[in-house]
Amino acid sequence: MTDEFFMQQAMREARKAFDDGEVPIGAVVVANNQVIGRGYNQVEKLNDCTAHAEMIALTAAFNYLGSKYLMDATLFVTLEPCLMCAGALYWSKIGRIVYAAADEKNSYRRSTGGHNPFHPKTKLETGPCTEESLQLIKTFFLQRRNGSM
Ligand SMILES: [Zn+2]
Repeated sequence: MTDEFFMQQAMREARKAFDDGEVPIGAVVVANNQVIGRGYNQVEKLNDCTAHAEMIALTAAFNYLGSKYLMDATLFVTLEPCLMCAGALYWSKIGRIVYAAADEKNSYRRSTGGHNPFHPKTKLETGPCTEESLQLIKTFFLQRRNGSM
């Protein structure tokens, strides 16, 4: 299984958010080549500004493994994490994070002035599906601006 395959799974989650009228961001947590948690942005549906895709996928993964740490897991997420999610990822000690597209507006980098808030053992990579993710987000905001959502 490739990074591309798992990022496509995260994109599938992002499309669920899109269909629900949520900012289209999706995430999956993978361990041993298997998806053990998935999530998509549900801030509007749950009226909860912490209901980011990463948080939901992490909680699902903790439940699946019965563990509060994810040292051997990888998070695939379609957009660069925000500072809150970076904090949650820090505490999870997740082994690796792959994100598809950079977020110039709300990323952790913006909040920390470039400081790396992740666990020192966490590998951070930018991954496949960059254009696909950006395109979906762009389409979402265009449609919303045009009042068609
Ligand atoms: Zn977040």
